[in-house]
Amino acid sequence: MKIKNYINGELVAPEAGKYLDNYNPANGEVYSQIPSSTKEDVEKAVEAAEKAFLKWSNTTLEERSKILSKIADLILEKLDFLAKAESKDNGKPISLATEVDIPRAAANFQFFANAITQFSSEAHESVGFNAMNFTLRQPIGVVGCISPWNLPLYLFTWKIAPAIAAGNCVVAKPSEITPMTAFLLGEICNEAGLPKGVLNIIHGLGPSTGQAIVAHKNIKAISFTGGTTTGAHIARVAAPMFKKISLELGGKNPNIIFADCNYEKMITTTVRSSFANQGQICLCGSRIFVEEKIYEKFKKYFVEKVSQLKVGNPTKKDTNIGALVSKQHLEKVKSYIDIAEEEGGKVLFGGNKVEVAGSENGYYLQPTIIEVFDNKCRLNQEEIFGPVVTIMSFKTDEEALTLANDVKYGLAATLWTNNLNRTMQFSKQLHTGIVWVNTWMLRDLRTPFGGQKDSGVGREGGFEALRFFTEPKNICIQYE
Ligand code: NDP
Repeated sequence: MKIKNYINGELVAPEAGKYLDNYNPANGEVYSQIPSSTKEDVEKAVEAAEKAFLKWSNTTLEERSKILSKIADLILEKLDFLAKAESKDNGKPISLATEVDIPRAAANFQFFANAITQFSSEAHESVGFNAMNFTLRQPIGVVGCISPWNLPLYLFTWKIAPAIAAGNCVVAKPSEITPMTAFLLGEICNEAGLPKGVLNIIHGLGPSTGQAIVAHKNIKAISFTGGTTTGAHIARVAAPMFKKISLELGGKNPNIIFADCNYEKMITTTVRSSFANQGQICLCGSRIFVEEKIYEKFKKYFVEKVSQLKVGNPTKKDTNIGALVSKQHLEKVKSYIDIAEEEGGKVLFGGNKVEVAGSENGYYLQPTIIEVFDNKCRLNQEEIFGPVVTIMSFKTDEEALTLANDVKYGLAATLWTNNLNRTMQFSKQLHTGIVWVNTWMLRDLRTPFGGQKDSGVGREGGFEALRFFTEPKNICIQYE
């Protein structure tokens, strides 16, 4: 099967006729081909987006909202079909795609369908000057959205929905590793009546297709989610062109556990926050810090719980841990486990590749727990982005806070405690964009989402996303 680009409402082959192989991570087989798009394809997409902009930006909010809602409805109608496609393309368990990824993609459209009707701007009266200011929030024009492979449709739509809700036209690129659901979204948008050219989806490699989007002079803003190194490169290309950029990058998130927490809830949630989606979520709590008082007990129960997780073919309903997204990624994650001992760490559970019967060439890895004794080790400082967590004990609040902040990333932190004073102190002093207390990945789409330090620049979510995708203009009127 050949995936196509979606330009001006049509599914079209890439100009140069070149394709890349698309693998099924569950069995390592090529199952489709995706366009290896060039500058020419991006150019066509930008032309289509520019042509559509005037009309789309003047479409009433009610009409835009109706179309976005319709897209959400259609995604839900096709939930099973899309979940199967996502699971096959990415290797994630079908249960996760069905319960989380696809419903969230629909929720992204539904949320911004509602949010745009409630979005407002400010007015400032200049008292004593007989002047009234108001802020016009206008769509930017053509914007670029680039997303990663870990939550393919979920993150792709997280950018596209606010961009088009705010009246922009979009040129978007999903990860070349997981193109399938983005491809399917094109047809859904047509069915929902999204006008031609409002959304254009171009497939291909990051350094060529992605680069062409970022460097295009008529694309005025870039919303990017992906690795920190890629984000830095994008910032270097976009900055001299004075583009607006929003960068959601890597994480190495602390999960800080105090003895006074609700132990059962903490253990169950920690298994999830460590290994959901094979640990390939930027928000996973990959560094677990446990108060010394309960460290041995935690170690025992955590290993026991994790050993019950079933690694298996993603299509099976009882699979907890599916396949990693690619062979290269599997090798990268495994290489971190291999350095554990050199670094003075101790593998408490897992560490090995898994052969799944009937899918022997798939990219499977055991969930892995490594005990470490120094937060400065590479295992604790570098983003592994796989089913690997480290655990380490601490004695005091100060020590836990220092360990949590002693890393270049600052995306999210999880804190387990029932002490209100500690909750407030940690909430204020953790250098992260998100702090979850006694929960994990509970997402209210109205809240600002993003990271500090090397985890990114800017915030998405709620009105923050609509602010990003609009240009504020001050209008000052003096009256007599
Ligand atoms: P990458 O940075 O490799 O890629 C992300 C996207 O950028 C892909 O579509 C990729 O295309 C594209 N890309 C790569 N190089 C360029 C370039 N030079 N110019 C323009 N686009 C380019 O990240 P991964 O796909 O490997 O995703 C994993 C990373 O994403 C992790 O670091 C993770 O933490 C982060 N992430 C962050 C989140 C957040 O909200 N903060 C959420 C989810 C993930 P291609 O795939 O074709 O190379």
